[in-house]
Amino acid sequence: EKVRKLDPVNTRKWFDDLVLAQFDGGLLQIGCPDETKAQYLEDTCQSVFSQAAQSITGHLVGVEFTVADRKPQPQQKSRKVEAGENVKLHPDYTFENFVVGPCNRLAHASCIAVSNSPGNTYNPLFLYGTVGLGKTHLQHALCHEARNREPNTRIRFLSCEQFVNKFISAIEAGNLLDFQTELRSVDILVIDDIQFLREREQSQEEFFHTFNALYNNRKQIVLTADCAPGELPAIEDRLISRFKWGLVCRMDPPSYETRVAIVQKKAHLRGLDIGDDIAEFIADKVKANIRELEGALTIIYATAQTTDEPITLDLARQALGDTVSTVEKNITISDIIGVVTDHFSVRLSDLQSKKRSQSIALPRQICMYLARNMTRHSLEEIGGHLGGRDHTTVLHACNKITELEKNDQNMRNQLAELSKVIKKG
Ligand code: ADP
Ligand code: MG
Repeated sequence: EKVRKLDPVNTRKWFDDLVLAQFDGGLLQIGCPDETKAQYLEDTCQSVFSQAAQSITGHLVGVEFTVADRKPQPQQKSRKVEAGENVKLHPDYTFENFVVGPCNRLAHASCIAVSNSPGNTYNPLFLYGTVGLGKTHLQHALCHEARNREPNTRIRFLSCEQFVNKFISAIEAGNLLDFQTELRSVDILVIDDIQFLREREQSQEEFFHTFNALYNNRKQIVLTADCAPGELPAIEDRLISRFKWGLVCRMDPPSYETRVAIVQKKAHLRGLDIGDDIAEFIADKVKANIRELEGALTIIYATAQTTDEPITLDLARQALGDTVSTVEKNITISDIIGVVTDHFSVRLSDLQSKKRSQSIALPRQICMYLARNMTRHSLEEIGGHLGGRDHTTVLHACNKITELEKNDQNMRNQLAELSKVIKKG
């Protein structure tokens, strides 16, 4: 509130000399020129900064003000895009930050084994399990570790959609050969959520050849899916049989003890101080998957910030009281896309395409908006489902639809109707 009352020119001066000191483990550290200022900002601006950081990153972010050098640390920059290879590894998705329990022990151990010696242990490594159980996290950790051991490791990490989109644009642009050479010259190829290859015959064909080329050169292939290879619908048999050549590893939902440990770890990473009672309460309420655990923590944190109260068990109860039911319904982006494409009579492939006509752009933006509000997926993940768009595009869409919802009765009705249908399932 105090900040809002200041005039813009003076306010800006106040913030001009702040630098990004560090952004790690969900904790954003902002460097201030001196202690007095750091203290002042800590007292007055923490929640505003934190909310801004959360809305930009789509993640729960804690903010701390520290005294720092004016220059941002060069090391920070290189963390964002690693080694010029276009692999954006999530800095938080490391083995250290991964809680091991009976549900994921085998997956964790096999990822470590593969990262120690890519191409020489389990090839391919195939992880499967329902959404939010840590498949993507482990894949990132594997890549981090492989690169820590051998910095020159050539890694390509793609969501299945990215693979398909790159393939399609390569064909359109007439440089399929570049695409093929690029993918076949890596040491580790990671493709996340391979189930999205279903019904994409040409992409499957292409992936088949990529797979063979890499496999024959003893290069590592790591895949994930939401079900076992044999249960993947509409995927060619020859691919399915290859998926089983190496190690197929199931990931299960975490037990209560593991959930408590994960909540504690996540809170700790964000510099949040929550008692065991609260961690246990969250673990008890949210059982389905780990992303939802984080979501619950975010809700509690946000409630504490807006009400300016410390995080107590009561506050946690109050914060989660009416939200958990929708969280637990486990609405997926695919559910949302299904309902929206039906409603507007458009195709998923249109939403994922580059088309910008209003009849396609609007349903696409509505999907983004609903996914943002009804799931706990990050902006980046939502963009990934809709043609590999980046988080700023998703954020822009959310803002635009929010604006329309405010001002346009017709849009309000449509959104209400869509949400109702989505919730019904
Ligand atoms: P999936 O790819 O299986 O859908 P993700 O890897 O995206 O799941 O995991 C969802 C969230 O849960 C991520 O923020 C991830 O860090 C977290 N997570 C999953 N498993 C664990 C774990 N064992 N320890 C810590 N965090 C986890
Ligand atoms: Mg995933």
